[in-house]
Amino acid sequence: MSDDLAARLAAVNARIARAVEGAGRPPGSVRLLAVTKTKPPAAVRAAYAAGQRDFGENYVQELVDKAAALADLDGIRWHMIGHLQRNKVRHVVKLVSAVHTVDSVRLAEELGKRASDAGRSPLTTLVEVNVGGEAQKGGCSPEELGSVLAAVERAPGLALSGLMTVPPHTDDPAGARPFFDRLVALRDAHGGAARLPELSMGMTHDLEHAILAGATWVRVGTAIFGERG
Ligand SMILES: *Cc1c(COP(=O)(O)O)cnc(C)c1O
Repeated sequence: MSDDLAARLAAVNARIARAVEGAGRPPGSVRLLAVTKTKPPAAVRAAYAAGQRDFGENYVQELVDKAAALADLDGIRWHMIGHLQRNKVRHVVKLVSAVHTVDSVRLAEELGKRASDAGRSPLTTLVEVNVGGEAQKGGCSPEELGSVLAAVERAPGLALSGLMTVPPHTDDPAGARPFFDRLVALRDAHGGAARLPELSMGMTHDLEHAILAGATWVRVGTAIFGERG
């Protein structure tokens, strides 16, 4: 099982490297976040043994449990990529190296306060934007983005890093491209790469399109760990 996993991880890294080259971007300019939601700690261990260090989780309780089960893995970095409720912030603030899903002023304020109280280094923060305007999805609207960015910058415990999005599903992966381009346009409208160096976008089925558009983090689960049950 872990040999298969190492092979799938290598294949994803090769996909990323090819896409980076095809886009004419510098090697190493796109990093892989391995998404482990619903997958057991053993799967994380296998990916870690194969060299992966950045892992993304969607649910607070699952993140807390997995981080505890894997506390022996030196240098592992957990990223929160799921919807975060304000009353759960205190459980994750010491565990994560980054949060990709800040989408309101109130969440930024709570996260900043808790991160600061925890005495940790400023927490790398990305603001999630709902570029597709889908009612059931997380993320602030493009209109709210300016105020959320300002709240992150005001928060003593947070370090503003960039933008994140999950586009509407399209059967054709190329269908995601206009949404990735919209996130890039929002970045350009709000200070560009100097203020917002990271763009977290692209998953198993559309990562090449995200990299062409300018992603710096791709978040990949299925291609590494298999389908989720
Ligand atoms: C599950 C998930 C992913 C990974 O999706 P795959 O299609 O399995 O690669 C990426 N980002 C977010 C926010 C997710 O919830």
